[in-house]
Amino acid sequence: MKNNVIILGSTGSIGVNTLEVLSIHKELFEVFALAANSSVDSLLEQCKKFKPKYAHINKEEDAKFLTTSLKKFKIKTEILFGKDTLNKLVSLEEVDTVVCAISGSAGLESSLNAVQSGKKILLANKESLVMCGSLFMDLAEEYNSIILPVDSEHNALHQCFASNSTKSIEKIILTASGGPFLESNINELKNVTPEQALNHPTWSMGKKISIDSATMMNKGLEIIEAMYLFKLEISQIDTLIHPQSLIHSMVCYKDGSVIMQASKNDMKIPISYCLGWPKRISSGIEPIDLTKQSSLNFFEVSKDKFPCFYLAKQVGAEGESFPTAMNAANEIAVQAFLEEKIKFTDIFKIIFEVLEKHHKKKLSSVEDVYEVDKKSRENAIKQIKKIN
Ligand code: NAD
Ligand code: MG
Repeated sequence: MKNNVIILGSTGSIGVNTLEVLSIHKELFEVFALAANSSVDSLLEQCKKFKPKYAHINKEEDAKFLTTSLKKFKIKTEILFGKDTLNKLVSLEEVDTVVCAISGSAGLESSLNAVQSGKKILLANKESLVMCGSLFMDLAEEYNSIILPVDSEHNALHQCFASNSTKSIEKIILTASGGPFLESNINELKNVTPEQALNHPTWSMGKKISIDSATMMNKGLEIIEAMYLFKLEISQIDTLIHPQSLIHSMVCYKDGSVIMQASKNDMKIPISYCLGWPKRISSGIEPIDLTKQSSLNFFEVSKDKFPCFYLAKQVGAEGESFPTAMNAANEIAVQAFLEEKIKFTDIFKIIFEVLEKHHKKKLSSVEDVYEVDKKSRENAIKQIKKIN
């Protein structure tokens, strides 16, 4: 029997890479359903090529357009729209694997739904764990849902853990490319444009994560992601800048051994690892040729240049509602920067101000998470108005 896969966020960078891997394993997987926000044209092309049983888009008018267009090509994909329908789709019995590749907090609801339906989850949406880490992992255990991390660092760690007990871990080290401003002078950062910030040196990704990489908030989010995912203390998680993005993360064991995962920096590798797990399937990507690799460098993250990273570490140590609040403020600030309403360096200021005013709260339910998220967004908007 083929494994039925649904891709949430199929038109994004992770979604497209997943479809590429699936297309080389047609005998193993069925593209059962695709879901996107508003990229109608891309979703239409994907339906024509993969002929899923269902496709989901948020707005009714987009759904109508898709239905009419697909009729012309005699493609029988059923087009759905609306939030509740997406949740129903994710929890259908026929669905085996859910790829959670929606970007930002918009991905939380469907990720939670997949967990509560006991599916195998390929989790790219790190924000689900940053916003709701403990609850999310508890639900996964309760509903026997397998969570496999797509995020390359966490995927590398999952691979490193494979043959060793997590009990003997001393610490883990997440590697970071350092983003587009690694070599920039700190005084230049104030005036960088969204275009410059989106120009990542080693990875091609969606807009939100690309800006997060430029501020290095992405690595901060990933530390929190790792803390919840692997049940570690923040003090056990280190970060090293490694500009070549060849080693994707490492685990240091009690006996002094360090296990690392290395591969070309192509997301099809972690995606195929998760799809095939516990077996290994081809990703279509060549292995690295070490004879062509001149040198590998590793160094610490600059405190002055990347304050968002250090702020996120503190937030992770605080725990409870702090990561949720930080995630919300970050999303609002990143969007404002992309819309050229604030400067690049204001992103940190806005998040910092929101967190200064935040009162720590225990998150006992998903409703608590959404409440903190909403309030922190409102506060971030207020801070942006103050700047302008
Ligand atoms: P992207 O912006 O390229 O794609 C986002 C996808 O989500 C699109 O298909 C979009 O249509 C969909 N989407 C957005 N809002 C939605 C909504 N409200 N409802 C339904 N669909 C919605 O983003 P990406 O780079 O593919 O990243 C996706 C996730 O994976 C993010 O959480 C990111 O942090 C994580 N991630 C990405 C990479 C990467 O290499 N791109 C690496 C590691 C982790
Ligand atoms: Mg990553």
